Amino acid sequence: MNVPFLDLRAAYLELKIEIDAAVAKVLDSGWYILGQEVEAFEDEFASFCEAGFAVGVANGLDAIYLALMAMNVGLGDEVIVPSNTYIATWLAVSQCGATPVPVEPLPATFNLDPGRIAAAITVRTKVIVPVHLYGQPADLDPVIAIARNHGLRVLEDGAQAHGAFYKGKRIGRHGDAVAWSFYPGKNLGAFGDGGAVTTDNPEIADRIKVLRNYGSRKKYENEVKGLNSRLDPIQAAILRVKLKHLDRWNQHRALVAEQYLKAFSGHDLVLPNVPIWATPVWHLFVVRHKERDILRNQLEQAGVETLIHYPIPPHSQRAYAEMCFLANDFPIATKMAKEVLSLPIGPQQTIEQVRHVVDSISHFLNRGLS
Ligand SMILES: *Cc1c(COP(=O)(O)O)cnc(C)c1O
Repeated sequence: MNVPFLDLRAAYLELKIEIDAAVAKVLDSGWYILGQEVEAFEDEFASFCEAGFAVGVANGLDAIYLALMAMNVGLGDEVIVPSNTYIATWLAVSQCGATPVPVEPLPATFNLDPGRIAAAITVRTKVIVPVHLYGQPADLDPVIAIARNHGLRVLEDGAQAHGAFYKGKRIGRHGDAVAWSFYPGKNLGAFGDGGAVTTDNPEIADRIKVLRNYGSRKKYENEVKGLNSRLDPIQAAILRVKLKHLDRWNQHRALVAEQYLKAFSGHDLVLPNVPIWATPVWHLFVVRHKERDILRNQLEQAGVETLIHYPIPPHSQRAYAEMCFLANDFPIATKMAKEVLSLPIGPQQTIEQVRHVVDSISHFLNRGLS
C-alpha cells in the first residue's frame, strides 16, 4: 500500500462540481483583477477568523512583508522571529531592510519560547512574529504582554494554522495582525499562490489594501511606493468553496492525529504535545526520533511518504551567511532539524492508510525485539 504525504488532487475531486462552477463563474464575469470575488472572500475569511478585516494578497511571504510595511518596519529595525520557522518568516523581515532576530522555541511545543523574548529586545526592535508552527497555536498571551510592555507590535504568522483556536478564540486577531498563506498544501489552500492579512486594526488593513495595489487607492494616483501583490479572483473563488469545508477537513486531520497519538505512546518516538489552551489544526504531524533518517528510510520502503520540516534552519542557510551565525548559536533549532519527521496527514487520508503508517512505524520501533 502507498500512502502519499498529502493528496492535493483528492481534495479537488471531492469538491469538483462546486469548484469548476466557481471558476467558470469568474471566467464568465469578464473581471479578472480584485473585484467582487476577492471582496466576498475577504469578508468570509474575516468572519471565519473572527477578525474585523481581511485583505487578500498574492502569497504568504507578501502577507508578512506587507503587514511589516504597514507597521512601519524599515531599514535598521529589528524583528523577533523563531529560530525554527520556515524561511519565509525571516525573508519578509529582510525584504523590509530590517534584521531578523531569532529566538529559540520551547522544545515541547516547537513554538516561540516567551521566556527568551525579553533578552532579544533592543532599542531597534519593532515587531515580534510568533509562528503557529505545524498548526499548533503559539502561546500568545505572554508574547502580547511582553510586546505591550516594550511598545512593540505583534504580527502572527498563521500560514500553517487556518482554523486553529487559542484559548477558545480563532487565530486571526489576537495580535495586531495575522499573515496567512493559501499555498496549495496549506490547510486552506488555493490551486496556485495566494495569501491574506487579517486584523482588527482599520489603519493596518487600509495601508495593506493600498500597498498591495501599487500604493494606489485611485487608479493612476500613487500615494506610496507599493507593490503588485493582489489575490487572484479565480483563487478567491476556489478559496470561498474550500473555506466552507475547512472545519470538517480539520476535524478529519484531528482524527488522524488522534490515531497516531494513541498508537505510539510509551515509545522512544517523541510525539507532538498539545497544551490545554490550544486547539491545533494539524497542518503537519511532526514526530522526533534520534534515528530519524533510518526511520524515514524504512517508511519509504513500506510505501509511506514522509517529509522534513525543515532540514536546514534559517540561521544555517547560505542566504543568511552574512549574519555569521554558528549552528550552535541556536542549538534547539539545529537539533530539531536533525530529528523531526512529518508523517502523512490530510483531510482525505483513509483509515486504512493511517493503519499502514502506524503498522510501519511500530515495525521500526519494535526492531531488535522479537
Ligand atoms: C508557507 C509558509 C509561508 C509562506 O507562504 P507562501 O504562500 O508560500 O509565500 C510563510 N510562513 C510559514 C510558516 C509557512 O508555512
